[in-house]
Amino acid sequence: MANTNAPRPDALEVAPEIDRERCTGCTQCLLICPVGAIERRGMRCFVSSEVCVRCGRCPTVCPNEAIETRG
Ligand code: SF4
Ligand code: SF4
Repeated sequence: MANTNAPRPDALEVAPEIDRERCTGCTQCLLICPVGAIERRGMRCFVSSEVCVRCGRCPTVCPNEAIETRG
């Protein structure tokens, strides 16, 4: 049986971006990221596009729809 919790690289075409106007720094995205690509600075979180494997998980947990994906 496949491990559905495994990262799925390239589920997204590009790394997501966090809308700093919407983000409250709740860290839900940071906690679910399997590769540690998200960090909190002050009361906002940021995605490192160099570390992100584009698994597509973080947009699914944000309570404020602050994580934007394209492509
Ligand atoms: S898509 Fe989100 S959860 Fe997945 S690796 Fe990138 S920052 Fe982390
Ligand atoms: S889950 Fe959404 S609101 Fe919470 S820290 Fe991440 S981007 Fe910000």
